[in-house]
Amino acid sequence: MENYQKIIEDIYLDLKNIDDVGKVADYIPELGEVSADKFGINMTTIDNKSFDVGNANEKFSIQSISKILTLTLAYKLEGEKLWERLDVEPSGNPFNSLSQLEKDKGKPRNPFINAGAIVVCDVLIGHLKNPKKDFLDFCREISNNSCLNYSEKVAESEKACGYRNVALCNFIKSFGNIKNDVDEVLDFYFYTCSLQMSCKELSQIFLFLANDDFITNKGNSIITMSQAKRINAILLTCGFYDESGEFAFRVGLPGKSGVGGGIIAIHPDEYCITVWSPKLNKRGNSYKGMLFLEKFTTKTASSIF
Ligand code: GLU
Repeated sequence: MENYQKIIEDIYLDLKNIDDVGKVADYIPELGEVSADKFGINMTTIDNKSFDVGNANEKFSIQSISKILTLTLAYKLEGEKLWERLDVEPSGNPFNSLSQLEKDKGKPRNPFINAGAIVVCDVLIGHLKNPKKDFLDFCREISNNSCLNYSEKVAESEKACGYRNVALCNFIKSFGNIKNDVDEVLDFYFYTCSLQMSCKELSQIFLFLANDDFITNKGNSIITMSQAKRINAILLTCGFYDESGEFAFRVGLPGKSGVGGGIIAIHPDEYCITVWSPKLNKRGNSYKGMLFLEKFTTKTASSIF
């Protein structure tokens, strides 16, 4: 087996002091408060060996990485009918784009852009009695981690100025693809984005996408193998907004970024790896995070291709 601890430490040291050309997201004011030089990595294998470096155990705002979790629960509850309301095509557009929705008549291109995740939240509200609580319970169960929580501060900060998401939700509703009250859907969406997790917690929660035999401590399986394969496929083609091709090209793993500066990547049947570095490139993805993962899959020759 590779010496993963040494490999991640070496790459960490190589990149720690490089000139980071990214910028911390501040369109959600609370995210702008985070120190720009945070840098952490965790890798966890499917047999639960875990390797850490830097700020790997510090919680941060996972933002759009939560879109994988909301999709997973909605797919579990709704089954294939989910795809009547959502597509699975790369958007080639920024994460918060409105223009494509007009052409696509309110059917979002995929579940990993904001429009798609907002529809997924609407689907979940249709299934769950207490959406915020039930979703949090689901996250706690699949990660076997009762310490997971939302950040009310971050959720309220986004709610106070999430004008684009408000526009997206109303626009989709005008096409009939949002069934519930717009304020309720947005409130739930902002809370899901505000989940706080460390790199280590993120690697652990996504092991169910790497491990075909995954069951929770309560003995429940989460989704079928076929559903996990499909989620990984959408992650590969759509996980990085209009930079998804670039991520597949440079890193070669299914993955997802968030504007909090986190990136998770999954190697099916092997591991999950998470990097956190808050400065984002122009496309909204962590600049150092992408560089780290490119070096990691190159050094370990462990992309899926
Ligand atoms: N809550 C963020 C938004 O809706 C998520 C975006 C992201 O992480 O890419 O703008």
